[in-house]
Amino acid sequence: MADAKQLTIIGGGLAGALLASLLAQRGWQVDVFEQRGDPRVEGYAGGRSINLALAERGLYALKQAGLDHRVLEQAVMMRGRFVHPLAGASQLQRYGRDDSEVIWSISRGELNITLLNAAERAGVRLHFNQPLKSVDFEARLATFETPDGENVVPFNALIGADGAGSTLRAQMHATLPFDERTEWLDHGYKELEIPPTASGDFRIEPNALHIWPRGHYMCIALPNDERTFTVTLFMPLKGVYPSFELITTPDAAQTLFETQFPDTLPLIPDLAEDFARNPVGKLATLYLDRWHLADKAVLIGDAAHAMVPFHGQGMNCAFEDCVSLANHLDRSPALSDAFQAFSEERMPNAAAIQQMALENYVEMRDKVDDAAFLLQRELELT
Ligand code: FAD
Repeated sequence: MADAKQLTIIGGGLAGALLASLLAQRGWQVDVFEQRGDPRVEGYAGGRSINLALAERGLYALKQAGLDHRVLEQAVMMRGRFVHPLAGASQLQRYGRDDSEVIWSISRGELNITLLNAAERAGVRLHFNQPLKSVDFEARLATFETPDGENVVPFNALIGADGAGSTLRAQMHATLPFDERTEWLDHGYKELEIPPTASGDFRIEPNALHIWPRGHYMCIALPNDERTFTVTLFMPLKGVYPSFELITTPDAAQTLFETQFPDTLPLIPDLAEDFARNPVGKLATLYLDRWHLADKAVLIGDAAHAMVPFHGQGMNCAFEDCVSLANHLDRSPALSDAFQAFSEERMPNAAAIQQMALENYVEMRDKVDDAAFLLQRELELT
């Protein structure tokens, strides 16, 4: 391809859209190919968590693109975790001493739209309804499926921001195999909703991440700016009670909530409908031995290092990748050097966060209402 300052991003999700802005702001000509339709026209087709916890790492990356204020306008502050034990009083455990140490709840759809708008304003060309199908790395040609057939596009280099099931990763693997390992968690999740009160207010404390820890399973709830909460029930896929294998009907879910989450029942009036309608999501950690293919392609975000969501850091980590890759592309005239330096910087960080995410599941579901654990936290904060 003639223009060496051109990059083609696969995936216009969270990482792809932010990276596109950062690169366009630095003078790159950027094309983004997204498999889904334009969410600004067709509505957001999510398929995964409705909202996300945005933390300092992610906020810093948004700031580099000048988007932190715009995003925070749509976010709800969470000062700490609000723990609801089965017996005893509920309690807010603050993340820090004051509101300088908080995290934010943000709608995935709204955030994606904000990022796409910013990318377009920065001059990025967005191509919707065009899933990547195959890549000829030798000829530097990428083939996308379009509603009318195929679109074969020459590229300078490809950046894979196409999520955990990345097609670009599969194409890179076919050319030069990765040492790739996906470890599936034997727990899954299902989303439910707490609607606003009749007068349009939040039904429970809005400025907190709520947790109902129950040992080997739990519910959490994050606030949305339209005064709803998205509740996520995490529990084993199989075996012990309760598990998704044993709780399959709305009646069984009603019994589980009556006995184990009784305070949430009046908050979730559509429990039966939500339970029947919403799928059980699966969770995995993805490990790769490298993230790039010479100067031809590199992976970021979930395509490179999908992780379980219990540290609320998958998106935050993906946003850090964006800043790191943009910086390395600024510094290194050769794409292969930039991709190599990016991988060297980010792979150990991603691996550490993946491990912390796995460990935090045990803390959230089993430790946050433990007296000794709470005393230790108090001591750490004083
Ligand atoms: P995605 O968001 O998956 O985006 C990939 C994009 O690529 C999509 O738009 C997709 O349509 C597109 N695409 C896919 N295939 C193709 C193709 N062949 N061609 C073109 N386009 C394609 N992270 C946090 O930081 N905080 C949280 O609180 C949090 N909570 C979570 C809760 C749950 C239940 C789950 C499952 C995840 C959570 N995460 C959280 C993780 C977060 O969702 C991901 O880390 C983040 O979405 C990664 O962004 P991405 O852009 O790499 O991938």
